[in-house]
Amino acid sequence: MDFAPSAVADDYTKRMRAFLDDRILPAEAAYLEFRAARRGTPSEWELPPVVEELKAEARAQGLWNLFLPSISGLSNLEYAAIAEISGWSPVIAPEAINCQAPDTGNMELLHLLGSEEQKQRWLAPLLDGEIRSAFAMTEPDVASSDATNIATRIERDGDEYVITGRKWWTSGAMDPRCAVLIVMGKTDPAALPSEAAGLKDRPEAENLVVLYAALAETSKEQVLAEFGGRQFSDFKPALADLAVEKLAPIAGEMRRISADQAYVDSVLRGGTARAAVLAESTMRDVRAIVGLLDS
Ligand SMILES: Cc1cc2nc3c(=O)[nH]c(=O)nc-3n(C[C@H](O)[C@H](O)[C@H](O)COP(=O)(O)OP(=O)(O)OC[C@H]3O[C@@H](n4cnc5c(N)ncnc54)[C@H](O)[C@@H]3O)c2cc1C
Repeated sequence: MDFAPSAVADDYTKRMRAFLDDRILPAEAAYLEFRAARRGTPSEWELPPVVEELKAEARAQGLWNLFLPSISGLSNLEYAAIAEISGWSPVIAPEAINCQAPDTGNMELLHLLGSEEQKQRWLAPLLDGEIRSAFAMTEPDVASSDATNIATRIERDGDEYVITGRKWWTSGAMDPRCAVLIVMGKTDPAALPSEAAGLKDRPEAENLVVLYAALAETSKEQVLAEFGGRQFSDFKPALADLAVEKLAPIAGEMRRISADQAYVDSVLRGGTARAAVLAESTMRDVRAIVGLLDS
């Protein structure tokens, strides 16, 4: 693989380096002084004003949201060099260019999977650097480096979800601008049953077991014999892998056919002709009912 920076990456990294040297590093003293003066007080987590000044300058220079390829146009490889430079001033530089953890990961998640409403409410102000977010995974009572240990429960109650659990080490949660938390928890903590009778009143489990059985061309009983007693965190990845494996030939064929424009046109022409024959008698009736004269 060629790791040489592209012309675009070269331009960005040069400008980022200059911004770091000329504007960010000289601001560190004022930043630290502001923080130190408030430590242990109710305003401990207030943002030093110099960061907002730097944010405005960075945005004006196009050094903004560079972490998100669909906005910046940079590849992850091109962004990596910029992230490395911002690491020279870890408390100021990432936020100055709106590429700070944990907001970057949260913005990526909202960008890829958020509903339109969630994007309007949370993603847009995060991309504008107006609010901050946090990611609550780690818990005091379990080894949280393995996310399958997470004990927080998320249960449906009518139109709401009730979240029960304890979190700590949530970076940014104390920032007065923090307006949204993405919380990791389990919605389906019960293991899969070993017998089909155990699927009664478990539509969420039955649905996935039936899907697995159909894709694997086997029975529900066979699936439960293999996965009974195991958590969804084991079963869902196995189902996803199987679905990808089984659907890959269909997706490949779709791509092959879609690339052949002449073939697609001929299928559409054939379909139009066949539909016209089928629709003709209905259209004649419609014209008669509406009172149109046949030409
Ligand atoms: C500066 C900072 C910021 C953070 N920000 C956030 C945040 O924003 N949100 C958030 O949710 N968390 C945050 N964390 C917490 C961090 O992500 C967790 O501490 C980390 O995931 C480890 O989890 P843990 O503390 O439960 O340690 P554990 O999972 O208990 O791990 C402790 C040690 O045991 C080892 N270990 C664990 N399980 C096994 C095993 N089965 N076999 C062998 N070894 C094992 C681990 O490798 C590690 O060395 C932050 C931490 C720091 C230091």
